[in-house]
Amino acid sequence: MIPAARRHRERHSTDRVGWLRAAVLGANDGIVSTASLVLGVAAASATHEDILVAAIAALVAGAMSMAAGEYVSVHSQADAEQADLERERKELHTDAHGELNELTAIYVRRGLEQKLAREVAKQLTAHDALAAHARDELGISELNAARPLQAALASAASFATGAALPLAVTALSPVNLLIPLVAATSLVFLAVLGAVAAHAGGAPLLKAATRVTVWGAIAMAVTSAIGRLFGTTG
Ligand SMILES: [Zn+2]
Repeated sequence: MIPAARRHRERHSTDRVGWLRAAVLGANDGIVSTASLVLGVAAASATHEDILVAAIAALVAGAMSMAAGEYVSVHSQADAEQADLERERKELHTDAHGELNELTAIYVRRGLEQKLAREVAKQLTAHDALAAHARDELGISELNAARPLQAALASAASFATGAALPLAVTALSPVNLLIPLVAATSLVFLAVLGAVAAHAGGAPLLKAATRVTVWGAIAMAVTSAIGRLFGTTG
């Protein structure tokens, strides 16, 4: 039997890992897309002011598109959950006996004896039939119910936080040192975030940090090469 304190701690860390990973991925997007854009515009010999405007526009546009994308995808998940719950409500109304058998079978599959499973199913059905079926049959519970607005805001906030890092470096850097400073600091930010996400998920730190840094470097190199191309032909 797992002591209550450890069970409590384990359940909480699992929730935190999922949330942290989503936030880190959002911030990664913010760093890579904003830093790459800054390097591309800077390589095209734009003025410091133009680069800064482009970086601010990248932050706002990126955060809005992340929010919109997240809202739409989580909302369609919420719609699907609602449709499932509605169907379940109807089935409970039209075939209460069949639904009781179904719930009993779920508990038997989870390891309860037939008699006990039946009793548990009966008591949970009497208490709140829809909640029992939603949780144990459909896997929908208060804890993991889709919250589109919350997800959209969290996604926009994590992107904006990530994007704010190369934006701050852009604002503080002299224009002649901007490209190496933004590139170097952004790679460090990515490596640190990669290590944090890996640590939270119990994965090897170095591998995760290297992976995200290499992809960030590729994105920045490609964008600044294109910027240089436009700069010379402009
Ligand atoms: Zn059911």
